[in-house]
Amino acid sequence: MTEQPVDVLIIGAGASGAAVAWSLAETRMRIVCLEQGGMPNPSDFPATGRDWEARRSGDFSISPNVRKLPADYPVNDDDSPIKVANFNGVGGSTVLYAAHFPRFHPSDFKVRTLDGVADDWPLDYDALEPFFAENDRMMGVSGLAGDPAYPSGKAPVMPPLPLGKAGETLARGFNALGWHWWPSDIAINSKTYDGRDKCINLGACISGCAQGAKGSTDITYWPQAIRNGVELRTNCRVREITVNDQGMATGVIYYDRENREHALNAHVVVLAGNGIGTPRLLLNSKSNLFPDGLANSSGLVGKNLMFHPYAAIQGIFDQPLDGYRGPHKAIQSQEFYETDPDRGFLRGYTFETSRGMGPVGTAMTGLDRGRIPWGDGHHASFRKMFNRVTSLAAICEDLPEEHNRVTLDDHLTDSNGIPAPRISYTLSDNSKRMLEHAVARGTDVLKAAGALEVLTMSPIPFAGWHLLGTARMGKEPKRSVVNEWGRSHDVKNLFIVDGSIFVTAAGVNPTSTLQALALYIADQMKRRLANLFD
Ligand SMILES: Cc1cc2nc3c(=O)[nH]c(=O)nc-3n(C[C@H](O)[C@H](O)[C@H](O)COP(=O)(O)OP(=O)(O)OC[C@H]3O[C@@H](n4cnc5c(N)ncnc54)[C@H](O)[C@@H]3O)c2cc1C
Repeated sequence: MTEQPVDVLIIGAGASGAAVAWSLAETRMRIVCLEQGGMPNPSDFPATGRDWEARRSGDFSISPNVRKLPADYPVNDDDSPIKVANFNGVGGSTVLYAAHFPRFHPSDFKVRTLDGVADDWPLDYDALEPFFAENDRMMGVSGLAGDPAYPSGKAPVMPPLPLGKAGETLARGFNALGWHWWPSDIAINSKTYDGRDKCINLGACISGCAQGAKGSTDITYWPQAIRNGVELRTNCRVREITVNDQGMATGVIYYDRENREHALNAHVVVLAGNGIGTPRLLLNSKSNLFPDGLANSSGLVGKNLMFHPYAAIQGIFDQPLDGYRGPHKAIQSQEFYETDPDRGFLRGYTFETSRGMGPVGTAMTGLDRGRIPWGDGHHASFRKMFNRVTSLAAICEDLPEEHNRVTLDDHLTDSNGIPAPRISYTLSDNSKRMLEHAVARGTDVLKAAGALEVLTMSPIPFAGWHLLGTARMGKEPKRSVVNEWGRSHDVKNLFIVDGSIFVTAAGVNPTSTLQALALYIADQMKRRLANLFD
């Protein structure tokens, strides 16, 4: 049976889908969001049990290919040195994210003008500024105003989280070298905020915050959007977006939890499936009018995939650092953020501090790196390492390249038989040089902070958690998939609001900018309600 058409149909209930649903709710239109996963139940999160670290290699792995839960779809990432990480369910990948919440810099929106690479964005920092601030309020961001790396006026809604022993140790390293550092903006409560208590340092942020101090959209935007009338349907996986003879989207075909097929018609379709899920769905939505996939007259759907190549620089110290207790990312340094051609690469990176590891993480790393032998000395070496490790992660700007892409796999499908995505990705020479620089300078910081020993890894293989660029925005239909306010150039009632519309990746985590952009697009839609399709 086909239902009455809804006004707005949103696909995906993650970071961007939640923000758009909440923002559009005030119009009182009939809004339905279809999400392939369920509503997370915090009492199921690993932090509630003693096996919390072990479950990171099982049902709470960051890799959909390891979890293999009914909500997940497989991703063929064999042809990529960086493997995909995500979460499929209400809240999307914010359920597992570390909640580091830096904004893009103004320079990130104009890299073609500044450095002659990639493209400028069709909008700038100032256009997003009110939406950054609105999103900070909704997600609950802790931090410290006055960071000289940003324009004035950025004021997080809560004081910064404590630096902890690990943060203080690394800050001493930066101070010794005279390099920039600042307490990180982070979407974790440093005090009671919006009915959620302050962080009690459970330390398992990236396997779900059982306490609710971390702002993931299942507990920030969604309760308010639902209260304001948005209907959220969980365990509903969209197979394809349907179109009429005029080339307008008419709605979707989706499967419910029992694998029953449904058609749902809509006046407006909003895609929020992330940088892999969105191009997958567009490429799966082929028709006579759109034989290469929907909204793909530019041929760019799936192309220009950007991760952030990460380097890890780990230090072993001779004193307890308490790093395994509490959130990651106490401080960050943007000493090497803006382009300096003398460094041998264009654009730059941020150092984020990662905290230490729990007992299982310490043991596994120690075994892998030959630092904890079996037999004699096993326990002594473990004790030498446990609670004595802290590290930096360098998050490097990845420039867009068309050959880095998402296509459909010829054989692999999900549990509904829908073709799965395939990733082809190589590290550019620019990224390799940037990673090398970051490893060398990160080693300097750890040594200056007093590390006895420094271990490095570059790139980190299982760090494909920022999924960007595969349906880029721009003013020219030949060179972009959506326009400067997220509307498809080809299909006038189709909008894309997730990380796939990013033009460039910057050298910071994307979610603050991604949600500000989603709120900006929702605002543009609301301003044009009378003539949305002209
Ligand atoms: C381990 C980890 C750590 C991270 N740490 C950080 C961090 O510290 N800071 C930061 O800024 N970012 C971080 N991220 C990234 C951050 O989570 C993402 O940038 C953000 O969630 C992306 O938002 P999105 O709306 O594009 O997609 P998502 O939040 O991934 O949401 C997409 C949703 O769409 C649904 N969907 C997809 N296809 C379909 C379909 N066909 N039918 C129905 N539903 C569908 C999915 O199930 C999913 O729920 C991290 C991510 C991970 C996995």
